[in-house]
Amino acid sequence: MSNAYNRLTEERMGELQALMAYRHYTVDPERLKVYSHDEVSGEKYRALPEIVLYPETTEEIARIMKWANENRIPVTPRGAGTGLSGGAVPVFSGIVLSLERMNRILELDKETLTITVEPGVVTDEIQRAAKSAGLLYAGDPCSSDASFIGGNVAENAGGNKVIKYGATGRHVMGLEVVLPDGQIARFGGKLVKDVTGYDFVSLMVGSEGTLGIMTKITLRLIPLLKYSAALLVPFEDVETAIAFVPKMMTQAKLLPASIEFMDQASLALTGRFLNSELPYATAGAHLIIELEENDKGLLFDEYTRIGEMCLKYGALEVYVADNRNTREKIWKARKAIAEAVSSFYPEHCMEDIVVPINRIPQIVEKVRDISERYRLETINFGHAGDGNLHVTFLNHRYTTEQWEETIENALDDLYRETVLLGGTLSGEHGIGLKRKKYLSTVLSPTVLELTRRIKNAFDPNGILNPGKIVD
Ligand SMILES: Cc1cc2nc3c(=O)[nH]c(=O)nc-3n(C[C@H](O)[C@H](O)[C@H](O)COP(=O)(O)OP(=O)(O)OC[C@H]3O[C@@H](n4cnc5c(N)ncnc54)[C@H](O)[C@@H]3O)c2cc1C
Repeated sequence: MSNAYNRLTEERMGELQALMAYRHYTVDPERLKVYSHDEVSGEKYRALPEIVLYPETTEEIARIMKWANENRIPVTPRGAGTGLSGGAVPVFSGIVLSLERMNRILELDKETLTITVEPGVVTDEIQRAAKSAGLLYAGDPCSSDASFIGGNVAENAGGNKVIKYGATGRHVMGLEVVLPDGQIARFGGKLVKDVTGYDFVSLMVGSEGTLGIMTKITLRLIPLLKYSAALLVPFEDVETAIAFVPKMMTQAKLLPASIEFMDQASLALTGRFLNSELPYATAGAHLIIELEENDKGLLFDEYTRIGEMCLKYGALEVYVADNRNTREKIWKARKAIAEAVSSFYPEHCMEDIVVPINRIPQIVEKVRDISERYRLETINFGHAGDGNLHVTFLNHRYTTEQWEETIENALDDLYRETVLLGGTLSGEHGIGLKRKKYLSTVLSPTVLELTRRIKNAFDPNGILNPGKIVD
């Protein structure tokens, strides 16, 4: 496949630079290294680009793509590089197209409850802009202080509020996209309903930079609920905590904004990283349950009901954080787990399996078996309310070679068990480079073939983010 692409010769570099109205690019070897990877651990998920471009307008991107398509130069779009599937790795070298200079909020429209932004806006900034207008942008990945909205849309990022509000795609209403041949397409807009033709907005969401480059994004905002509270609930063991999760929704018929799960090892790791502990740090597992309401009394009733239910089903204690400081402390611990893993275990494998919510207890058991079988130290945390578990294997004993072999075997087992329980490979981190070879374990040959045909219809020369999802 790599032979299908041309290199950026000196002559081509000159042509490329002449195309650009600005001079924002780098070929500095040290800078190129920064763009050779995302947050997936492991040398095999790294590749150096030949050049990194930092375009500032849609038209510049269109010119670059037209030229790259005609010259068969691979182009890898990149947001903030916080991805956890190797999606922004330039597998076949060529151009990395960084969207970091396209970072403007273009319009916050209170009349239509929408916000239109460029792809390089940091997720938190959108949340803050919406909040200052009394509105909510409900997309909330744990990486929201760093990730870009373009990357969120490209991955259909999930995060902490998916049970109540849905993943990023649920909030995307309109897109401007540069196609691999340089044409500019606009899909959707500010319409609440639109069934005029195929739903290209949904096709672009989660397409991992393989079908087009998103250059403008219109997002839905909703009225911000006035009050919120987070419950921190320690349980004796993982099984009791996990078994409680579906009960909250199926028996109490309550839909919290978040139900997050951390086992004892995750909590210890993030505590060590932040140098601060949450209460009951030695408990087997903790849940964070976040509730939001417009009425203080209603909020109180709801968390009292959930608290009582937690205690009935084995909680050791229920801490209510209904002020900003304590809520932030709890969320800080949860959000820092991934960073803590990278910091203490440079070699690790963070997974993203998802199962129907009633199957979480079984998958946790299977993970324990797999960890014992391969003598792997493992932490489990994740968005338990969505059935989405970040099983994370940590290398504490193997050489790199042994580790890679062990992980291959462990992943085969993990994915097999997940699929047997009605689950799938990834709930929010995507396929990218990391999970590509496992796609055929969940998608039928018919669906795989359709996927290839869609890719081919958008990108017949295969120049946009090659080596990801399918070949
Ligand atoms: C500490 C930490 C916590 C995280 N927590 C969560 C979480 O809770 N939920 C979750 O879902 N993910 C989470 N992630 C994963 C990651 O943050 C998300 O996948 C995020 O959406 C990636 O955004 P990014 O800007 O970093 O994209 P990148 O990593 O730069 O790119 C991701 C993919 O998007 C493509 N892309 C980027 N911009 C565009 C564009 N404008 N047009 C087309 N394609 C584009 C790239 O080619 C690549 O395939 C976490 C990661 C870390 C490190």
